[in-house]
Amino acid sequence: MNSLLKEDRKGRTALLTKNLTPGKRVYNEDLILRDSVEYRTWDPFRSKLAAAILKGLPDDLVREGNKVLYLGVSTGTTASHVSDLVGSTGLVVGVEFAPRVAREFVEHVARQRKNVIPFVADARDPSKYSVTTMDVVYCDIAQPDQTEIALTNCQKLLKKGGTLLLVVKARSIDVLKDPKHVFAEERLKLEKAGFNVRSVIELSPFEKDHALIFATS
Ligand code: SAM
Repeated sequence: MNSLLKEDRKGRTALLTKNLTPGKRVYNEDLILRDSVEYRTWDPFRSKLAAAILKGLPDDLVREGNKVLYLGVSTGTTASHVSDLVGSTGLVVGVEFAPRVAREFVEHVARQRKNVIPFVADARDPSKYSVTTMDVVYCDIAQPDQTEIALTNCQKLLKKGGTLLLVVKARSIDVLKDPKHVFAEERLKLEKAGFNVRSVIELSPFEKDHALIFATS
């Protein structure tokens, strides 16, 4: 049974992840049984990773057994689905520097899920949470220097040939520039650092002026 299901709902695709903690919700998602297995609905308007998958990101980049470094977990909406995707043999290292949301993440996600390790830390200093080498780095920190921060983390913690998923919020980088321009500039930074950029996926209509860059090291 896959940990990610795609279902057709009246001509639209809905995403579901296999619930690692059956009976428990993380936010107000629906719990749904399929062949006696419980799944959680994954809302693309609340999760940029779900939005990117619906807009064409390959759906097997985060998979069973993967180790994922997640920068900017916030309260853990998306991180909880990543935890479902990697399953009990995988690991999610979740980093968040804002104490209030980090507390919510610890209570509602990390304490409930054995495959999640929380760090209340600044993503600018990966030495604070360098537990192991990662298969995937997912970065969603909405900072002007987020690409540089993602690269620092990849240099220290991403395995050779690993995957970087970088969320770019154009307005966090430059409010005046055309978002397409900003996405192209951030792409170039990754290429100059030796990354192979596979796709740049704009997230509208789910998120305005955001893109997710998929690159491999
Ligand atoms: N990824 C989350 C989700 O899908 O549910 C939403 C993340 S929100 C856009 C960005 C988060 O990154 C905020 O919670 C913010 O506090 C955090 N953040 C920003 N800069 C950071 C840094 N330097 N280190 C750690 N966390 C940071």
